[in-house]
Amino acid sequence: MAIRKILTEPNKILREKSLRVENMSKDIQKLMDDMLETLYAAPGIGLAAIQVGVAKRVIVMDINRGRDKDKEPKKNPMYFVNPEITWKSEDQFTYEEGCLSVPNQFAEIERPKQCQVKHLDYNGNPQELKADGLLATCIQHEIDHLEGILFIDYLSKLKKEMIIKKLSKQKKENMERIVV
Ligand code: ZN
Repeated sequence: MAIRKILTEPNKILREKSLRVENMSKDIQKLMDDMLETLYAAPGIGLAAIQVGVAKRVIVMDINRGRDKDKEPKKNPMYFVNPEITWKSEDQFTYEEGCLSVPNQFAEIERPKQCQVKHLDYNGNPQELKADGLLATCIQHEIDHLEGILFIDYLSKLKKEMIIKKLSKQKKENMERIVV
């Protein structure tokens, strides 16, 4: 397993639409292993392949990780290949979202509270899962990545531009530091 570099906004690759996985292979499993290690190291609760520069419809998640910051939570990795939302509730749920590709920025986003998702698991077996609350939010956030959508796209134009400006400035400063 290896930790991969997480791309951050602004970056055109994050806006690409990811392609379906046609064959489950060892390479896809290796990608998922690397993504999970990258997720735990970050740390975060969800990661889409496009965030490490791979335009494939692959997501890893572990929502246990965010729960109790003092204790080392039990690992509960989840793998989603070619995920598709088949149902969304009318009930909405608001959560203060963040994203490993939008570092240090958080905003309240409203999404359907429950959803049902069809996907392949780590071994390529078809699964269907009903998710609620944080799990549903996280799945919807990650599936957005596969379409090139970031949570800041749901904010007002002004707020979104402010965040992108801040991130561009941070990136420039980091680059200068490396050059010096
Ligand atoms: Zn994200």
